[in-house]
Amino acid sequence: MLIFNTMGLSPNLLKGIEELGFEKPTPIQEEIIPIFFEKENDIVGLAQTGTGKTAAFGLPIIEQIDIRNKSVQALILAPTRELCIQISKDLKNYSKYIKGLHVVPVYGGASIDTQIRALKKGAHIIVATPGRMLDLINRKVAKIANVRTVVLDEADEMLNMGFRDDLDSILEKTPDIKRTLLFSATMLKEVARIAKNYMNSPVEITVGTQNAGAENIRHIYYQVHARNRYLVLKRIADINPDIYGIVFCRTRMETKEVADKLIKDGYNADALHGDLSQSQRDQVMKRFREKSLQMLVATDVAARGIDVNDISHIINYNLPEDNEVYTHRSGRTGRAGKSGISIAIVNYREKSKIPQIEKNIRKNFERLPVPNGAEICKKQLFKLIDRMEKVVVDEAQIAPFMDTVNKKLEWLSKEQIIKHFVSLEFNRFLEYYKNAPDLNEKAEDKRDKRDKRDKRDKRSERSHSDRHGRRGKNGYTRFFINIGKKDDVIPVNIIGMINDNTKDRDINIGAIDIKDSFSFFEVGEKYTAKILTSFHDSKFKGRRVRVDVAEEIKGGRNKGKRRKKSFYS
Ligand code: ADP
Ligand code: MG
Repeated sequence: MLIFNTMGLSPNLLKGIEELGFEKPTPIQEEIIPIFFEKENDIVGLAQTGTGKTAAFGLPIIEQIDIRNKSVQALILAPTRELCIQISKDLKNYSKYIKGLHVVPVYGGASIDTQIRALKKGAHIIVATPGRMLDLINRKVAKIANVRTVVLDEADEMLNMGFRDDLDSILEKTPDIKRTLLFSATMLKEVARIAKNYMNSPVEITVGTQNAGAENIRHIYYQVHARNRYLVLKRIADINPDIYGIVFCRTRMETKEVADKLIKDGYNADALHGDLSQSQRDQVMKRFREKSLQMLVATDVAARGIDVNDISHIINYNLPEDNEVYTHRSGRTGRAGKSGISIAIVNYREKSKIPQIEKNIRKNFERLPVPNGAEICKKQLFKLIDRMEKVVVDEAQIAPFMDTVNKKLEWLSKEQIIKHFVSLEFNRFLEYYKNAPDLNEKAEDKRDKRDKRDKRDKRSERSHSDRHGRRGKNGYTRFFINIGKKDDVIPVNIIGMINDNTKDRDINIGAIDIKDSFSFFEVGEKYTAKILTSFHDSKFKGRRVRVDVAEEIKGGRNKGKRRKKSFYS
């Protein structure tokens, strides 16, 4: 409590936050609270979700409320009903020991009459969504002429949700003499416009990097034909059996379609979109929060304000119209120091959006090959075996049956029993993926290559769609590596080793060709020396790895023949 104690908060407020277990202010609280009390400037706070913004503005606002004055003294605008409820709950908790303070949340999707009654009883602080607030102002129920502080929480989200005009109208109706605080995860153009039009020489406070959390997020894209999107989504889910993620779609229709298909195909998924009633949405969100739902298929609008930690994957079923929306989508993973993966399923046309998005997120995408059937089966099998290993055996309960079971299985060896057991659970996968096609978009790779000067396209060649090595060798060096199928090597392992060993993200990787006991891979010519030196001493599954330029391997059966050739015939 030491630091909070010195911040000019009254004892009753301190008591409230102490009960919440707040020991010291978060960085943004440490910055905002003193400025709030000591200066008169407007404030722009740029910080990610989870940094403690609610208390940063909430505590000083509560401190400044004059309880005897019955008029509305603070107005907090937030993008969603969920956030309004959350913020007002937080404020009520902070002010638990402050008698007579009234915080009233108002938002759409709930009875306006109830809210009108609550407002009429008196509100010192209103927490509102812009649409409902404007409605209540126009009905002359919410009177904001005496407001001293206006907070625009998650301003970027409000703008993304199309509240621009509502915000303008509300801000025009607030008194000139007031203080405005604006919070946003990113400084979008529109956010800057609001700051310029409605704020007085604001102090800008940035906590962490603007897109913090981004550090922990890996951005991946798969390039596929639009018609294969759904199949790719399934593969993503299959190769990540523990996925806990949000699948973003562009429209309600698409959201419904994708969710329906997933449900039909036996996935633990559901849809969240604007056609659902509020109670249906609450129901879905509840299941998702409790993690009884693994995949939430949602539109951007419906997913606003979803504040769930631990999300492992964000899947962009397609890229959003507006590149900045990608930042918001991906920002829902990789929170609170955890890592996360944001995946975009793109077709050739959408791929052109990647460079701009990379600029926004200040990170590069990795283009990866769509997981193939073998990789997925391996992953699922491992998961199954792992579950079997970890299952809790209730000795007492199963004891009475074991005799019969043992007798019945007598004729099978241990190895056979394992095979039967695995097949029982696993045949479905094997069957599905038996002749699974390569879903990587191929035709367009040729076009990519034409555009050599474009640096980005070099990276896209990391796609191993052309894994069998029949593409042009121009500009590539072919390497031999002494590990192959019998070592359970898959292309991703080799890509991983190249990336790990060289620590060079720009390295262009060509075809990867896995043979039984060895493999080949291609890398841009200029990286030849780097590969040779960096692979020195490297290991795969404990085995020493040897890498050599394929053409230069001498001697042996093929004598003078270039070894490479024999693998192309
Ligand atoms: P934001 O609005 O920046 O997303 P919140 O205000 O919702 O963040 O706070 C995120 C979480 O951190 C909440 O669970 C909140 O109770 C907690 N929190 C906020 N400030 C502190 C603090 N000083 N000490 C401990 N926990 C805090
Ligand atoms: Mg918040």
